[in-house]
Amino acid sequence: MTVMVPSMTPALAKPASIPSDLTTPGLQALDSALRQLHHAAEHLGLDDGLRTMLATPRRSLTVSVPLRRENGQMDVVQGFRVQHNISRGPAKGGIRFHPATDIHEVTALAMWMTWKCALVGIPYGGAKGGVAVDPSALSSRELERLTRRYVNEILPLIGPEKDIPAPDVGTDEQTMAWIMDTYSVNTGYSVPGVVTGKPMTLGGSLGRAGATSRGVQIAALAALGRSPEGVTVAVQGFGKVGALAAQYLADAGCVVVAVSDVSGAVHAPAGLDVAALRAHADESGGVAGYPHADAMAHDDLLELDVDVLVPAALENVITAANAPRVRARLVVEGANGPTTPEADEILADAGTTVVPDILANAGGVIVSYLEWVQNMQAYSWSAGEVELKLRDLMESAYGEVRTLAGERGLTLRQAAHVIGVDRVAEAHRVRGLYP
Ligand code: GLU
Repeated sequence: MTVMVPSMTPALAKPASIPSDLTTPGLQALDSALRQLHHAAEHLGLDDGLRTMLATPRRSLTVSVPLRRENGQMDVVQGFRVQHNISRGPAKGGIRFHPATDIHEVTALAMWMTWKCALVGIPYGGAKGGVAVDPSALSSRELERLTRRYVNEILPLIGPEKDIPAPDVGTDEQTMAWIMDTYSVNTGYSVPGVVTGKPMTLGGSLGRAGATSRGVQIAALAALGRSPEGVTVAVQGFGKVGALAAQYLADAGCVVVAVSDVSGAVHAPAGLDVAALRAHADESGGVAGYPHADAMAHDDLLELDVDVLVPAALENVITAANAPRVRARLVVEGANGPTTPEADEILADAGTTVVPDILANAGGVIVSYLEWVQNMQAYSWSAGEVELKLRDLMESAYGEVRTLAGERGLTLRQAAHVIGVDRVAEAHRVRGLYP
């Protein structure tokens, strides 16, 4: 495998390679992100200087976060915050708590945030944060101490006008509340706009909790182009994004036949009662053991004979190894980076439509933007107003991507990247280079 690495980006046109045994999941994600950028830059005819600028993060911070465990022992974990681009506005992106996260993965995720925000037309650059920790192995007090100390370490970077974190894998509303409090105590007054995805009582927005899933539903229904009645769906991941995406698709008339999470996978060819499955997962900690479905092997879910496949967990799950066996005609990416570039080609050759992550899962950051706007105005909108604005931004972005893909013979992913990269490149051109 040839892997692009950022220090080699001046040679983006001729990717340098590093031995495949040095690859990690994070490097693979960064490699995917750089390849997608490379394709868009070629298509747009960007010069080498601009390509390198877009391939490298503006700021990248690695911190060591000391954590006092319940038994008195001190552990030290690695934390990251990467601001990939700030040309169109403040940096924006979630914070991930996951044991396998590293600086490469966080850089890739930050780059995808840049294109995502540009694609859906919200005035943000892209960022991402991560802490290499398994949150399920920590007590609530340990998680609070870890979050506050991590925020303290990245404090110089974040702020409502600079860089606005949000939830991602392994973090939630409570994490965002601790971030808001730590930043506010350091500032001396309440600053709700420093973070999005907050609880309602601290200035959260109606509709934010289900926003990514609602966006997945809007994108899936737009891409289906026919009545959703009876359309079969499999969802990989039953967390913040997957569980509600399954629910909203079922509400629209689809038949959700299989879902999986870390606990296992369940399959019911006649359709799952998604609400009952969510109640079971809430109670028992996962979908495994749900009594009204058959257990199935986790990896088999991706290869089920369904109409729509929604990967809504982590990166690199649809690869060259399993892509030839993906039978869904439509893949809607709730996760960031679930499909590798090699798998992308295989799916495109097979005529499978992929609604790419930076479009399909943009509902989350769209409602984060709406939350931030409400915070900056000290005002709040009704659930209906938020939903309308979300739908409008999602549907226009989908329409633009579809049209460009049709006009230029591109896949939806290629078209989405061309639009996002072009908007950021344009901001660079108009602003000019200082000094
Ligand atoms: N973590 C989400 C994403 O990957 C949301 C980011 C945000 O709201 O800033 O898009």
